[in-house]
Amino acid sequence: MDLSIAIPLIDEAESLPELTEWIVRVMNEHHFTYEIIFVDDGSTDNSWEIIESLRAANPNIKGIKFQRNYGKSAGLFEAFRAASGDVVITMDADLQDSPDEIPELRRLIIEEGYDLVSGWKKKRYDNTLTKNIPSKFFNAVTRRVSGIKLHDFNCGLKAYRLKVVKSIEVYGEMHRYIPVLAKWAGYKKIGEKVVEHRARKYGTSKFGWRRFVNGFLDLLSITFVGKFSKRPMHFFGLWGSLFFLAGLGISIYLIISKIMDSHFALTNRPGFYLALTSIIIGMQLFLAGFIGELISRNSSNRNSYLVETKLGF
Ligand code: UDP
Ligand code: MG
Repeated sequence: MDLSIAIPLIDEAESLPELTEWIVRVMNEHHFTYEIIFVDDGSTDNSWEIIESLRAANPNIKGIKFQRNYGKSAGLFEAFRAASGDVVITMDADLQDSPDEIPELRRLIIEEGYDLVSGWKKKRYDNTLTKNIPSKFFNAVTRRVSGIKLHDFNCGLKAYRLKVVKSIEVYGEMHRYIPVLAKWAGYKKIGEKVVEHRARKYGTSKFGWRRFVNGFLDLLSITFVGKFSKRPMHFFGLWGSLFFLAGLGISIYLIISKIMDSHFALTNRPGFYLALTSIIIGMQLFLAGFIGELISRNSSNRNSYLVETKLGF
């Protein structure tokens, strides 16, 4: 199969027939063999009935319906598990992404050898204040942290080589950082393509202001997990030692000055409190490190490595 098109959605009933028709037209024009995987993430409108009727008319259309709303990442995760096309495309259901981009995205993967190509909504049709500006900030930070030179990490329209989606695990709200996950899985050839973006035609955006808070927290955890999840002591131990040594140093200094000149009360010295808190914080960090080590030792994927090829087995 040439293409799997993964579309997570919630309450997008009005868009679905138009979107499907457009995708099918592009597929037929290019003679692709394909599947469209709709993941209904707990819609309360009649999205699922529409998916059923679309499926009845076209067997290339498949659907997964969640019992309740789990979020976009969960939808992508299930679609990735089910996908079997050589190239997997993800796109939003709201007609903001154009299916006309699919053939070129696929070409970049198949002919140019990219592992992942991310769309870049260079000209964006969203609210400037609530979306475009915060998103510039996020992208800049993510670029710095991950070292991946993309302008638009969170673009819904992306193309992947099949084995990429099979070897990453999108969880929580990590759909914003899939290129980062792919890079950690060892896929280096990550590119981007300017894509056409359109204003939302039907319905409303499904993410409110919480996207910024969650996005920022996810960025922190993804940075931390990526670097230290398998060796927490390297992080906590380092900072724990620094704090502890600083506290110890100040204590020694205070003791020596007390011995040299006993006319002051130790508790009147700011250094006393500094030393006290530093030592306590240092110990806390150390303990967190030990507990982290115990947890990661017990985790079932402590030794899960992605093997690319084997010889002679
Ligand atoms: N979506 C989803 N589950 C959610 C929230 C969103 O499957 O909990 C889908 C939504 O239906 C759409 C895509 O994710 O297909 C992008 O959502 P939206 O267009 O609301 O995001 P925006 O364009 O405002 O960033
Ligand atoms: Mg949208």
